[in-house]
Amino acid sequence: MQVEVITIGDELLLGYTVDSNSAHIGRALAAVGVRVVRRTTVGDDPDDIVSALRAAMERTGAVITTGGLGPTADDRTHESIALALGVPLVLREDALATLRERWQGRTGRPMPESNVRQCMVPDGSTLLDNTHGSAPGVWCETAAGAWVATLPGVPREMRGMLTDVLLPRVRDRLARTGTEETLPVVRARTVRTTGIAESALADHLAEFKRAVHDVPLAYLPGVEGVDLRLTVSGVPSDVADGMLDRAERVLLERVGDWIYGHDDEDLAAVVLRALKAHSHTIAVAESCTGGLLGARLTAIPGSSHSVVGGVIAYDNRVKESLLGVSASLLDAHGAVSEAVARAMAAGVRARLGADVGVGITGVAGPSGGSDEKPVGTVWIAIDSVTGSQAVKPVFPGDRADIRARAAQMALDLVRRSYRVP
Ligand code: ATP
Ligand code: MG
Repeated sequence: MQVEVITIGDELLLGYTVDSNSAHIGRALAAVGVRVVRRTTVGDDPDDIVSALRAAMERTGAVITTGGLGPTADDRTHESIALALGVPLVLREDALATLRERWQGRTGRPMPESNVRQCMVPDGSTLLDNTHGSAPGVWCETAAGAWVATLPGVPREMRGMLTDVLLPRVRDRLARTGTEETLPVVRARTVRTTGIAESALADHLAEFKRAVHDVPLAYLPGVEGVDLRLTVSGVPSDVADGMLDRAERVLLERVGDWIYGHDDEDLAAVVLRALKAHSHTIAVAESCTGGLLGARLTAIPGSSHSVVGGVIAYDNRVKESLLGVSASLLDAHGAVSEAVARAMAAGVRARLGADVGVGITGVAGPSGGSDEKPVGTVWIAIDSVTGSQAVKPVFPGDRADIRARAAQMALDLVRRSYRVP
C-alpha cells in the first residue's frame, strides 16, 4: 500500500513549527510495510487543502492529513475534505455529546461553544476517537475505495491516535488484501551507548559489517552518548525482527559494556530500576550541573521510590554548610577537585540518609577555565554502599553540552556500580 501525507498549517510553511509529524508517520507506516510516497505541506487555506487532497486522492487514493482539526476559525481540514469529496459538512451529535462530557469531566466547566466546530465532519465519514485531546479525526472513504484519514496537529495527540486507531485500520485493510504477512517492512532499533567515543566504538565494531552484512549500522552521536541504529528493510516483519535480534546480539558481544538501553530509553530510568531492584535510595549534590541530575531522575515516573533529594551546592558556603565539605579541603584543593567531589557525595549521602550519594563539581564555562582545569573539567564522585569512586572527564562542547554530559556520566557511574543492564 502506498500512502500520501498532507500536513496542514501556516506555521509549518513559515518554518515556526517543524514538521515532525510527517517523519513520525513515515516511520510508523514503514514499520508495518506501508510506504509513504509523497509528503505535501499546505497552509490553512481551504483552496490549497482541497487541491492537495484532490491530487493525492487521484494518485494513491490513500491519504493521511495532520493539523487543522482545532476549534478555531483557521482550522479548515474537515470542511476542505467535504469540499474535495463533494459531500456536505454535518454536525455529529454523538461526537458532540462525547466532547461535552469529556470537557466537563476534565475541567469541571461546560464546553466552550467554539468546540462545536470540531464535531462538524464530512457526511458519511467514520469518526476516529481522540482520547488524547478534544478533536475527533475522521476516516472518509469514497465509493471507489479511496480514503483519507485526519489526525490532529499536536504531535502527542497525533501519535496517540495513529497508534490507537489509525494503524489498526490500515493493518486491517492490508489483512483484507491478504498481504500483511509478507509485506516488506522497514524496521529500526536503536541501541544506546554512553561513555565511549564514536571512533572508539567504530574500532570495536570494525568486524560488525562482516558478521552482520545485511543490517546497516548508523552511528548517531549526541551529548548523552552514541546511539547505534540498526535498520532492516525489504523483508517481512518477522524476518526483520529476527535480523535485528541477531545484529543486536553482535553489538552486545562487542560493545555491551557501554550499552545501557534501547530506542528512547532514558539512562535515568535504567538507574532508577537498578536502585529499586536493590531497594536503594539516592541523593545528589550538584555544583556545575545546578540540578540537572536531580531533574533527570525526578522526570521519571515513580522516582520517589528511590530519590531522596538533592542540594544545588553552587557556592562554596553551601558546600560547607549543607554538605559538610570542610573549608580547609576547599582551600587546599579548590572547588573543582577529586577531594571536594568525594566530600560532596559523602556529605549529601550522610545528611540526606541515602544509600548512594553523587557529587558533581566542574568548570562549565565559557569562562573560569585554567591551564590546570580547562573548561569542561568535571569531577564526578559517587559514595555508596557498593563502594566509592571518582572520575575526571574533560568534556567538549559549550556550557549546555558540558552540563548535560556531566549529568549523563554521573548516571552512568551509578549504573555501572550495579553492573546493569
Ligand atoms: P488544535 O486543536 O491545537 O488547534 P489542530 O489539530 O488544529 O489542533 P494545528 O492547529 O494545525 O492542529 O496545530 C496545533 C499545534 O500542533 C501547532 O501549534 C504545532 O505546535 C503542532 N503541529 C501542527 N502540525 C505539526 C506538524 N506537522 N509537525 C509537528 N507539530 C505540528
Ligand atoms: Mg488548530
